[in-house]
Amino acid sequence: MGFVPIRMDEFIKLHRKSNPGERPDEFISLLRRSVADARQGARCHCGAPIWAIGSAVVGNACFTCITGEADPSSDYEIDEVLKGGGGETLVAQGFVDDQSSKVFRLRRGHKTSKPNPKMQA
Ligand SMILES: [Zn+2]
Repeated sequence: MGFVPIRMDEFIKLHRKSNPGERPDEFISLLRRSVADARQGARCHCGAPIWAIGSAVVGNACFTCITGEADPSSDYEIDEVLKGGGGETLVAQGFVDDQSSKVFRLRRGHKTSKPNPKMQA
């Protein structure tokens, strides 16, 4: 499991499409800052590397602290952040609407709601 790399300009395009009423320059500057922080090795308060995309929305924190999920799978991260570690680079494709809606729910202050089979009783 791991992040799906996406170019920053591609992600900004997705964000604009999903948030037509927002000022894009504000989000872009926040994203640039969190990407720069992540590339410099910024850490979450729990000690894990920050998730740049989520950190642009809610402030510097790691994927798990932001989403409450243990592992990223089909979640985006800016490719230049991922490249910093010298790991392999995958090609982002698909997942677009799902991923952007997750991030933007966070921005509006709602918890991510996804079906939880343990809560059926
Ligand atoms: Zn954390």
